[in-house]
Amino acid sequence: MAARIPVTETTCPYCGVGCGVAVQGAGEAVAGLESHPANRGRLCVKGAALHDTLDLRHRLLYPEVDGARVGWDTALDAVTRRLRDTLARYGPDSVACYGSGQLLTEDYYVANKLMKGFIGSAHMDTNSRLCMASAVAGYKRAFGGDSVPGCYEDLDQADLLVLAGSNAAWTHPVLYQRMVAARKARPDVRVVVIDPRRTATCDLADLHLALRPGADGLLFNGLLAWLARHGHLDRDYIRDHTRGFQDALARAEADSGSLADLARRCDLREADIERFFHWFAERPRTVTFYSQGINQSATGTDKCNAIINCHLATGRVGKPGASPFSITGQPNAMGGREVGGLANQLAAHMDFAADDVDRVQRFWNAPNMASEPGLKAVDLFQAVADGRIRFIWILSTNPLVSLPEADRVREALRRCPTVVVSDCMGDTDTVRMADIKLPACTWGEKNGTVTNSERCISRQRPFLEAPGEARPDWWALAGVGRRLGYAEAFGWRHPAQVFAEHAALSGFENDGRRAFDISGLAALDQAGYDALTPVRWPVNRHWPRGRRRLFDDGRFHTDDGRARFVPITAALPDDPPGAGELIMNTGRIRDQWHTMTRTGKSPRLLQHIGEPFVALHPRDARRHRIEDGQLAHVENRLGAIIVRARITTDQRPGELFVPMHWSSPFSARARLGALVPAITDPLSGQPQSKFARVRVTPCAVRWQGFLITRVRRGDPDCLYWSYSPLPGGHLFELAGDDEPDRARRRLATLIGEAGQGEAPQWLDLQDPTAGHFRRVAVRDGRLIGALFIHPAGALPERDWLGGLLQRDRLEDDERRALLGGEAPDGGAGDGPVVCTCFQVGERAIRARIDAGDRSVEALGRSLRCGTNCGSCLPELKQLLDG
Ligand code: SF4
Repeated sequence: MAARIPVTETTCPYCGVGCGVAVQGAGEAVAGLESHPANRGRLCVKGAALHDTLDLRHRLLYPEVDGARVGWDTALDAVTRRLRDTLARYGPDSVACYGSGQLLTEDYYVANKLMKGFIGSAHMDTNSRLCMASAVAGYKRAFGGDSVPGCYEDLDQADLLVLAGSNAAWTHPVLYQRMVAARKARPDVRVVVIDPRRTATCDLADLHLALRPGADGLLFNGLLAWLARHGHLDRDYIRDHTRGFQDALARAEADSGSLADLARRCDLREADIERFFHWFAERPRTVTFYSQGINQSATGTDKCNAIINCHLATGRVGKPGASPFSITGQPNAMGGREVGGLANQLAAHMDFAADDVDRVQRFWNAPNMASEPGLKAVDLFQAVADGRIRFIWILSTNPLVSLPEADRVREALRRCPTVVVSDCMGDTDTVRMADIKLPACTWGEKNGTVTNSERCISRQRPFLEAPGEARPDWWALAGVGRRLGYAEAFGWRHPAQVFAEHAALSGFENDGRRAFDISGLAALDQAGYDALTPVRWPVNRHWPRGRRRLFDDGRFHTDDGRARFVPITAALPDDPPGAGELIMNTGRIRDQWHTMTRTGKSPRLLQHIGEPFVALHPRDARRHRIEDGQLAHVENRLGAIIVRARITTDQRPGELFVPMHWSSPFSARARLGALVPAITDPLSGQPQSKFARVRVTPCAVRWQGFLITRVRRGDPDCLYWSYSPLPGGHLFELAGDDEPDRARRRLATLIGEAGQGEAPQWLDLQDPTAGHFRRVAVRDGRLIGALFIHPAGALPERDWLGGLLQRDRLEDDERRALLGGEAPDGGAGDGPVVCTCFQVGERAIRARIDAGDRSVEALGRSLRCGTNCGSCLPELKQLLDG
């Protein structure tokens, strides 16, 4: 009888949905975990491709100090020595730590304790500052604590779903599919999408409000005033459970004016606004689901409170199917909030009030408690730039790509005397800047907990041995804590012990004043920790099995138990574009995650969109003389990128969209953080990543081409390149402004394979006068690589040639066809991949539509597309709609 393959129950390391994942063996296969409340067995395409990303390519496997490989003891001694020296000469404010929503809660807890309790610096911030800091500040102002009231079941139960600044179909696909299912089950459900762009999420919308960028707060102020004017308030709820309504209403009325004024300022049709308002009034079960389009703004906190005001005014908080619901970008952004990963938090939902500082100091028995909030991410890196911070430890994040004014961040790190980077990858933009590199465990090797967007704590469990000398981040941080002389405070031997301490702190002198209380888990031993099943906090003596919704009793975590209305005057971005400028919006694409360090390893995840791009409206394209598929410069006073143009009416005129993902290992010049100004929300410190003034111009090139190769020998030396992994090799899209012949000679040296062998046989097709070159390398009957260059970009598709890298021997007719770049039978490939799960291309789908398939279900029956994760359903519908 065949041995049963063990299954590890863990969670997906990507987005804030926090799906449960069942992993077979050592990662041979992954599937959605049926028992996990977040996903009930579903995974999106990124989660379904997790096992493609487990190889050790580009991993950081050994500690390094100043470029030399060392052992862990030497590395941690070096960290400690430089830390001590910095503290001795410049004091605790010269030391900073920058973490990540990718860290597990245990890692975060130890980093925060080390920094704020023992080093004495509160400059401990996180990339979650870029993601949900405004949502946190909004909740704290309204509810007296950073508490998400609702849960995912509310998405199933709502009669109205308002998605504000969220492209959930691509960024939180499993929740989007949940909304699709809810809508299918109850056709009366209405869906409103508020977003300047027409995104894949609009496929579900009954109403798409493509408003002026930044006008969301104004729209919700208008909603509050309209609800009051038309008698749709819950006056009992306002009276019994809130404060500040009249001030907030007066401000909203003054701000929003008449419906006609509101429509003009939001750049929407009056009738559409009214329709939205009527639906909101008529449907008590309303969830407003909001994300980066709201948070990433200079007025993000106000926008959050404008939304929450409308929910408070109608009594729709913490009730089944009725809540404001911020959704986090990262898998453990919420866990970071719980431990105090943000510089303005202390720990366990305590801030820097004197009694909180005293309480945490006593609990930790900490000798050097920070007593003031530290610097938030953008200010923190500014302090690195101007020399106030001289030692920084960066964990699991890539600020050289993700932070605003990324080129300045690079310069800041270049000047910083000590940069320590803990990462699982060895070649990120940020790791390249490190003086001390510490190899971290990654997904599959880590052991700990995460908390998703609905407050659900889940275990992330290991199923692989840590490779090389990779170690957990909490272990490295604790090692430095012990070397500093705090053996007892950092003496844990297992993450279960760290978690137990974190849980105990959450309940310490809590008395129900702080919503975050998981003291019910403080007694877990290692076996209990290993067996922990998903649970939504709080978990304490009142809620031993966790609590589905908060505030359903109308009691909040303010001094008097009442929620607060916050008066808002909604400000539109005060940096409007000048002549010839456009507004650049940024965000994610369907199949990639953050700076691609993990998803960029999976060939199939780069088949949907394989190059960095700028989306712009046809009118702007004409005005700026840019054609679809052409390369374009996008630039401003801060920097410049080169990306491929996509012309689409999904964009409003005057506005661009550029995805956030591409970093130096994946493209020559596409780090869009370099163009985003460091403008932040004054309350939350969250950068305004959705609004940058830029110019767009055509990029003049003399040739375009592509290169495929079995091994990656280096990065191409040319004006533009973009990289994608292939099964069995690598693909570079290329373009240059130099002589094609010179480019050919230079770039052909990048073709190669591992190991030695006889020299490859080169097949060439050249027309130097026309600047048209094709060069193919074959060895022992196998394709080694190919370089195709053409002045006008007339090139074959890459599928067939790229696919030959997986073959050990070419047939004679294939060999003859190599320089043509097309299969001997002349058959066209499937075209750009639409369904990543089943590798179904656009051409194949169009063929089925031509053959009579009239629905996504019919396409699914014919080709299986759209029948697994569902991420491609909006695109299938678009193809069906013609
Ligand atoms: S929706 Fe996708 S990326 Fe997000 S947690 Fe689930 S599987 Fe992972």
